Amino acid sequence: MPLAVTHILVPMIFVDFLRDHFFKSHRRKWPNKYIFLVGVAGLIPDADMPLSILLTGTTQLHRTFTHTIWLPLIFLVLAAVSYALLRDLKVFGFRLWKSFLLVSLGISSHLFLDALLAGSVNLLYPLKDMQIGLNLIPEDWIWFHSSLDALLLLGWLIHEELEHNISEYF
Ligand SMILES: [Zn+2]
Repeated sequence: MPLAVTHILVPMIFVDFLRDHFFKSHRRKWPNKYIFLVGVAGLIPDADMPLSILLTGTTQLHRTFTHTIWLPLIFLVLAAVSYALLRDLKVFGFRLWKSFLLVSLGISSHLFLDALLAGSVNLLYPLKDMQIGLNLIPEDWIWFHSSLDALLLLGWLIHEELEHNISEYF
């Protein structure tokens, strides 16, 4: 399965890349705190692992409730509603509709990565059993997943250095 760092970095890199290359004029409206938020959201679905162990003593709840299409859909609806009704509302310095939108995106990224790289996800759980997954990388290829983490981090740092001279912050 993709490791935690991959689940955090992929949505962060995706949104950062969009911001830097396609929505450059809107860059100031999407400060780095939102990039951080989408990364955290990318990890949310796997919270079912410790929760499952805590509640059942096993991992049987893993890839059930938090690995469905419902979760990102709920956040997408919340984003639309808050955009329509509470567009300027901020909570802890985060604009609400943007936060809901990025949480939806982060969770979607998690589901996409799980389905693409390792095993399958049951997107319509518990309504219907519909496993979707390409399972491109065998589960025991831990070396691959940790190498992917390293390559993503390295690639992103190089991109950030070229675009934003991040070495000047150290
Ligand atoms: Zn997962």
